[in-house]
Amino acid sequence: MKMKVTLLPGDGIGPEVTREAVRILNVMARLHGHDFEFQTRLIGGAAIREHGVPLPQDTVDTCLRSDAVLMGAVGAPEFDSLPPVKKPETGLLGLRQALQGFANLRPASCYPALVSSSPLRPEVVSGADIMTVRELLGGLYFGQPRGFAQEGEPAAWNTMKYFESEIARVAHVAFKIASRRRRKVTSVDKANVLEASQLWRKVVTKIAAEYPDVTLEHLYVDSCAMRLVTKPTSFDVILTENLFGDILSDEAAVITGSLGTLASATIGGIVDLYEPVHGSAPDIAGQGIANPIGAIASTAMLLRHTAGLEQDASEIESAIASVLAAGHRTKDIAAAGQSTVSTEEMGELIADALTKIAGKSTAARK
Ligand code: NAD
Repeated sequence: MKMKVTLLPGDGIGPEVTREAVRILNVMARLHGHDFEFQTRLIGGAAIREHGVPLPQDTVDTCLRSDAVLMGAVGAPEFDSLPPVKKPETGLLGLRQALQGFANLRPASCYPALVSSSPLRPEVVSGADIMTVRELLGGLYFGQPRGFAQEGEPAAWNTMKYFESEIARVAHVAFKIASRRRRKVTSVDKANVLEASQLWRKVVTKIAAEYPDVTLEHLYVDSCAMRLVTKPTSFDVILTENLFGDILSDEAAVITGSLGTLASATIGGIVDLYEPVHGSAPDIAGQGIANPIGAIASTAMLLRHTAGLEQDASEIESAIASVLAAGHRTKDIAAAGQSTVSTEEMGELIADALTKIAGKSTAARK
């Protein structure tokens, strides 16, 4: 498999974790004969320092010419006093707009070795494995009209608007993903109150008929919020609109217990974008202690969703799980008094585990 991947390490711990993600893709290239052509470009604070803008045109053009983009994180305290449109974070928003991905995938599964890291009880989170599919380009965040009243009593408004086509395309993504997982979609809305949700429910029900192997359930967003922390194992794929997805995917992330292990993907547009969920973590940048697992798990998502290499993706996930099961921890996921490994050491341990796991599968594939 041949693939052009644009790397956007960004700011803070972004370059540190991206380096380890690339190490893992290079292991996959060596063992399975893939050919990754990497190009590195600037985004965020790193781009402001070099070019005066958070998203240089050359970065956008290079991303648009690639098959996938792998990002680290953006954000640097030295630019905190800049107006919002000039901040490093604007670079990421601009990139998402340029790539036009409409489906944001946020997996939240509890690695067996980390069940006690979750603030929820181990027996509640054990076995939880949720994929949230959030619609990213519609709903309240983009609907018109929006604004502030220009006279009279101060007032403000936003519009939750969805076209049938916008709901249908993201529903297809959710059902396709569910059909490769445990074949259940929970569509989340507020159809007892909102017209936009009534259309959402109608369209999702119609699309479900095309996926007879997948079970569909509808849940109101308030019930979903409650069930996520009381019975997270009851979910497989959660499909929801932009605002609900923003909130619920953060809530689902709690079951994993650590921000550093979470990956994400934004797909369906011109080019797919993969990034860990965490930010640039300026408080620990440059110390070599960042957890690279979120970035490494993002490479598994890249292989699964853009390259269609399900087995390769599972191999990376198994390698991560086995290193955690062996007791290796970066500082953020270590228990009090437990010894820790550096970002680089964690990358090397996962690469070694992957070499063993993928090496066996290479032999079996021959
Ligand atoms: P953050 O995710 O950077 O950090 C929150 C906390 O989690 C910090 O204590 C940090 O040390 C820790 N943490 C995060 N990732 C970790 C990892 N991989 N390993 C170990 N510990 C980790 O969020 P924040 O502090 O609110 O934001 C810092 C900067 O990042 C801000 O400029 C913000 O705008 C930006 N940000 C960027 C993104 C992105 O690029 N997608 C996302 C969120 C925040």
